Order: sequence, then C-alpha cells, then structure tokens
Amino acid sequence: MNIWCVGRNYVDHAKELNNPLPEKPLIFLKAGSCLTREKSFTLPTHLGEIHHECELALKLDAQGQPSQIGLALDLTARAVQADAKKKGEPWTLAKSFKEACPISDFIDFQDFSFFESLSFHFSVNGQIVQKGGPKDFIFPLPTLLKTLKENFPLAPGDLLLTGTPAGVGPLRKGDRLDAEILGHLSMTWNVI
Ligand code: ZN
Repeated sequence: MNIWCVGRNYVDHAKELNNPLPEKPLIFLKAGSCLTREKSFTLPTHLGEIHHECELALKLDAQGQPSQIGLALDLTARAVQADAKKKGEPWTLAKSFKEACPISDFIDFQDFSFFESLSFHFSVNGQIVQKGGPKDFIFPLPTLLKTLKENFPLAPGDLLLTGTPAGVGPLRKGDRLDAEILGHLSMTWNVI
C-alpha cells in the first residue's frame, strides 16, 4: 500500500515553516512500510529532532474513493527535511524512517459533508498543540482526490494524509500523545 501525503494544506502551518502557499496540491509519499498500528513507537536516534504532524487520514479504494477516516502522525525529521529542501533533494530520509507513520483506528467515511464537519485535536502530555479540520484546508478533499486520481496509480487500502495544521514540534522519549476526532474517535500513543 501507498501513503500519499499532502504538504502545506493549512495556511497557518505553511506560514510557521516559512513556506509559500501552494497553487496546486503538493503530494509526496511516505513508504508504506513506515505504517504502524501499535500504541507505542520509538524515535530514530540518528536523524535529529522528530516532529509530530497530526493529520486526518483517509483509507482509499482502488478507484480513489474514500472508505474510512482516521488519524495519522506524519512523523518528520525536521532538520533533515530543512536540509533537503535547501539542497533541492527529496525528503525521503526525513519522512520514511521506521515507524514514521503511526495510525489510529478508523471510522466509516459516510459522505463528503460528514468529512467536512470533522475537527481534530492533538495533545502532547495533556497540552493541546494542534487542532484543525477540513474547514481549514487550502485544497478541499475533492480536489485532493482528483489530483491523486489524475496523476497516480492507486491501490486498494492506500492512505491519504491530508496535511497538518500549525503547532508541529519535537517529540521526546516518554511523551504521551492524545489525538481525537471530536465526537468520533480518540487514540493515545506513547513514545518509548
Ligand atoms: Zn504532513
């Protein structure tokens, strides 16, 4: 399976990393083997600070139709990514290390207006640091799906990570992470 990710889909996050706003969806990949459903994960020690990026995630069928919704952490080695950006190199090393994509349970997609109504919170050690939802997207879900379908061969079970709001920051061993799609699902991860 593939993990399709959207970069810079929230204005406030693009600004916090001093990135220009995109004119069309910016899609990148995380390796499918980064996925973990475990409730705890470890951080790599050779890549510098690892930042959390909590994101709404959609499970897709082979036609690119969303079937389920959950939360994912697009874990990112921030300094490695910044260096790659500066040199014009790919971000793979910053995005695709072991356990770089923890995911929550999933709920049924229902329809686009249901998706549009969702919002999520992400806390580190009890403090809310990220919140957002589809209402804050630069590119709405239909545009993201259209971009995927037009450009890429999709496989059943692929994930689409829809981008992260402002508030990204470093994780430390021992952190307790709580993520919630308000009113629908919650997930706790421990960094061990
Ligand atoms: Zn991300």
